[in-house]
Amino acid sequence: DSRASAGRVVDVLDALQDLLEDKEEELGRMDAIAGDGDHGSGMVIGIRAAAAGARRAREQGAGARTVLVQAGARWSADGGGTSGALWGAFLTAAGRRFSDTEPITDELIAPALLAGVTAVRELGGAEPGDKTMVDAMVPFASALEAKPTPAGAAITAAAEDAASAAEATASITASLGRARFLNERSIGTPDPGAVSFSMMAALLGSLLSS
Ligand code: ADP
Ligand code: MG
Ligand code: MG
Repeated sequence: DSRASAGRVVDVLDALQDLLEDKEEELGRMDAIAGDGDHGSGMVIGIRAAAAGARRAREQGAGARTVLVQAGARWSADGGGTSGALWGAFLTAAGRRFSDTEPITDELIAPALLAGVTAVRELGGAEPGDKTMVDAMVPFASALEAKPTPAGAAITAAAEDAASAAEATASITASLGRARFLNERSIGTPDPGAVSFSMMAALLGSLLSS
């Protein structure tokens, strides 16, 4: 039922927390080249708040939808920074594609992720080429739209496109966010938000494949 799916959501958020804790320094260093250096710490604060909020909601008996919507609310409230607001919106929009009474089935997963990407684009207003996480999210979403199931394999493949696109942001100049003030300096370094997104997508793909 939806509560078993809610448990699965909490497990995924815990795994993403471990990943971001591992990558905190690397993401921070990347953000320090042309930004303010807080992307690693900001993502860790955000995912910890999201995972804790999800666990609390599940303990109170919530289904998958509410667990993920709560996680998004906590990430937005506690995460801070541009990425905190955007990731909060991502999780909330994805959660709204699920139910509190029905389980999360394989074919619901890609549409939820696509809704998350749409929410980030609407809230942030970035276009591909602005050197943001959107540069990785757009090819990810295109791949997932073309082949949405089975979710684990589809997300793994889409995450590879996201990783290539994140890598490719190294050659462009940032035009949005704090990085724009130091834009020339960002050439040669990929966008940290694009990199963190592609890492998280790859982990999600592998978790859903096993
Ligand atoms: P802050 O910029 O507030 O310090 P972070 O360092 O955590 O926040 O996040 C920076 C990342 O946020 C950037 O690498 C970029 O990927 C992403 N970002 C910034 N502005 C936008 C935007 N308008 N739309 C999408 N992503 C954005
Ligand atoms: Mg920053
Ligand atoms: Mg900041």
